[in-house]
Amino acid sequence: MMSLKDKVAIVTGSGRGIGRATALALSREGMKIVVNSRTQQEIQETVRIVERIGGISIAIRADISIPEQVTTLLQGTLERFGRIDVLVNNAGIAIVKNLIDTSEKEWNDTLNINLKGPFLCCKAVLPVMIKQRSGVIVNISSGAGKTGFAELSAYCASKFGLIGLTESIAKEVAKYNITVIALCPGAVATRMQEEIDPKYYRMRKDQMLQPKDVAEKVLLAVRGKYRSGSAIDV
Ligand code: NAP
Repeated sequence: MMSLKDKVAIVTGSGRGIGRATALALSREGMKIVVNSRTQQEIQETVRIVERIGGISIAIRADISIPEQVTTLLQGTLERFGRIDVLVNNAGIAIVKNLIDTSEKEWNDTLNINLKGPFLCCKAVLPVMIKQRSGVIVNISSGAGKTGFAELSAYCASKFGLIGLTESIAKEVAKYNITVIALCPGAVATRMQEEIDPKYYRMRKDQMLQPKDVAEKVLLAVRGKYRSGSAIDV
């Protein structure tokens, strides 16, 4: 993808954290941004920040684990902007628990948001990208998508799964000039990290990766710097 000016990106989970930083980074390149999460106030705030730096964006509230709401996200995007060049599957949750204490609901919530959500979003945008014969999908996996961690088994299962989804879709859509990449950040200073380990967060937040560091890699992925299907450590 050469010039990003006026191209359209959907960034899921962009009400705060890595998603918000990604929305801003892509906006600075001139892209039009669809900001999404389940919290109206946070997505409106991201839109305000994008507008303050001279960008164009809209907020679409949707839970990406629910098919009907993904349809709302897709239709809202096409109504406003008429195309989709980039999808960043960033929305995610982490529940910290031993396996034996993890309820079936906690397992389902984690897998539904972190893995089924990207499946639904890819399924929604791919027909548009295939028609355009171009597009980039960036899936935010994790270091925990390559290495298991105690008390994070559901999260790790979802993030390992997301890498498999990435590799498989990449092979399916290569013939349409569509690139699919997974990014695997280590600990990033966001609310999620604060909730995973409050003490470590307070001590180390300044030394951790910052949301903008991940956003920079998303931009490199969008610019075609990584081989499709790869899972890039951040
Ligand atoms: P965060 O600050 O908690 O942000 C997560 C975002 O996702 C929020 O905007 C949240 O908003 C949204 N979200 C959650 N569930 C959603 C749903 N069902 N539908 C739509 N939006 C939803 O966390 P973050 O650290 O920026 O995490 C972003 C991504 O990076 C996640 O996939 C995470 O697993 C991954 N990651 C994080 C780290 C880290 O150390 N922080 C490391 C590696 C990978 P609502 O809850 O309001 O919907």
